[in-house]
Amino acid sequence: MVNRKIPVLYIRKEECCGCTACYAICSKEAISMVEDEEGFEYPQIDENKCVRCYQCINVCPIKGSKV
Ligand code: SF4
Ligand code: SF4
Repeated sequence: MVNRKIPVLYIRKEECCGCTACYAICSKEAISMVEDEEGFEYPQIDENKCVRCYQCINVCPIKGSKV
């Protein structure tokens, strides 16, 4: 639990379908959905608000099982 890193919600955009589940579950409001140049929204984590609880990773339908 010590020095856990900020979770990586996606590296490539294919790893995120923009479902906003991570955004919805974050109780710290550390995630915002940010539009890319094509108008698709992707989550962005505010490192200052994130408490590294990893709820967002666990809820993600694409990568939840990896953590
Ligand atoms: S790890 Fe927790 S606090 Fe950080 S962005 Fe994910 S849900 Fe929010
Ligand atoms: S839960 Fe996963 S797929 Fe859904 S918006 Fe967040 S990172 Fe993308």
